[in-house]
Amino acid sequence: MDSLLAENEFRRQVHEYCERELPRDVRRKVLGNLFLTKEDNLRFLRSLAGRGWVAGHWPREYGGAEWTPLQRFVFEEESMRCGAPWLIPFGVNYVGPVIYTFGSAAQKARFLPPILASEEWWAQGYSEPGAGSDLAGLKTRAVRRGDHYVVTGQKIWTSYVQWADWMFCLVRTSEESRPQQGISFLLIDMTSPGVTVRPIKTMDGCHHVNEVFLDEVKVPIENIVGEEGKGWSYAKFLLSNERILSAETGRSMRQLGHLKALVAGTPSDGVVDRAAFDRRIVQMELKLHALRAFCLAYARSMDPSQPPGVEASIMKIRGSELQQQISEATLDWLGSSAIAYDPADVHGEQATSPVGPADASGAIREYLHGRASTIYGGSNEIQRNIISKAELGL
Ligand SMILES: Cc1cc2nc3c(=O)[nH]c(=O)nc-3n(C[C@H](O)[C@H](O)[C@H](O)COP(=O)(O)OP(=O)(O)OC[C@H]3O[C@@H](n4cnc5c(N)ncnc54)[C@H](O)[C@@H]3O)c2cc1C
Repeated sequence: MDSLLAENEFRRQVHEYCERELPRDVRRKVLGNLFLTKEDNLRFLRSLAGRGWVAGHWPREYGGAEWTPLQRFVFEEESMRCGAPWLIPFGVNYVGPVIYTFGSAAQKARFLPPILASEEWWAQGYSEPGAGSDLAGLKTRAVRRGDHYVVTGQKIWTSYVQWADWMFCLVRTSEESRPQQGISFLLIDMTSPGVTVRPIKTMDGCHHVNEVFLDEVKVPIENIVGEEGKGWSYAKFLLSNERILSAETGRSMRQLGHLKALVAGTPSDGVVDRAAFDRRIVQMELKLHALRAFCLAYARSMDPSQPPGVEASIMKIRGSELQQQISEATLDWLGSSAIAYDPADVHGEQATSPVGPADASGAIREYLHGRASTIYGGSNEIQRNIISKAELGL
């Protein structure tokens, strides 16, 4: 089949699947920008598992469908456009590929099936209070004692670890002259004695991130992935996977559609110059078209066996900035109805904002939480550094 026809046919299948199988209440919450519970996310993941799409890009021998990068992009874009939840990536997209690429046979047998079945929840323990952009500065130590490591240190900003059974973690197993050396990649059971999770409430009033304290946590040596001291290369492999899908064009398509419906159906409480506002919408629409064209061209030509190039950084910058511009414009249209915000409004089953349109609180939450999109996954300043180094040699 002609490749464009095949791409459109796959998109149609994803669309049909979402229309038919996405749990209605979960979709309603996503479209209203409400907070999703663990169970909301799991219901979507389990339904995908039933269709064989939960890890479509994994090799067949590990339970995947060997999707091409293009199929993976189309799936993410179309499902999010239709109101599917963001596919929380820590198990399927991050640690799964590290385990099947670098892990032992026993690790593959133990950890991959529960990831595919969404029976175990994973979290990413990379960042520390003194190590974010400068990740190699991490200080959490793992000291070998007999058949286990003793891990002590602190992780921070750990997303959804409050729901996690396991956390993959970067730890320092030796002091070397280069900070990138001597780092190892450990799998930590969250029920281990010495693990404490403390919530951090973000400015949307929701519980997405946490601090994790590790106090002499015993981790069996069989839970180290690959070689001791080589964790930096596995971490980089994982980070390159993190940025492949970072443009989140499906989400921007959904949010821009939402803004246009709002403009068509609700008088503005904040916009004075309507013509200027319409121009702003058109400019965002053009940026979205350009970004989609860029992502599609990249996904069509990408060799999945190679790490992504600077294109991934460009997608991260453009995608996150566009998301923020759309949510800012939505709040500008809402005007004074976007001033009052009670997080209780976004924890319910459906949008019921007391002021302005019913889903005003969801729009405010999207704006507040969206401030983080230019920080996580490698901040946009760091992405610009990567581009300038690669393209300009700076
Ligand atoms: C909502 C959210 C969820 C997250 N989830 C996770 C998670 O699940 N697991 C995890 O491990 N981490 C997670 N993080 C952490 C995230 O990866 C870090 O916040 C990010 O890497 C930035 O590090 P930092 O916060 O330490 O900021 P810093 O590195 O201290 O940076 C502060 C500022 O300085 C700028 N800056 C730093 N270095 C440079 C430079 N060389 N050149 C130019 N500018 C620079 C940065 O861009 C930023 O603006 C999450 C963060 C957020 C906000």
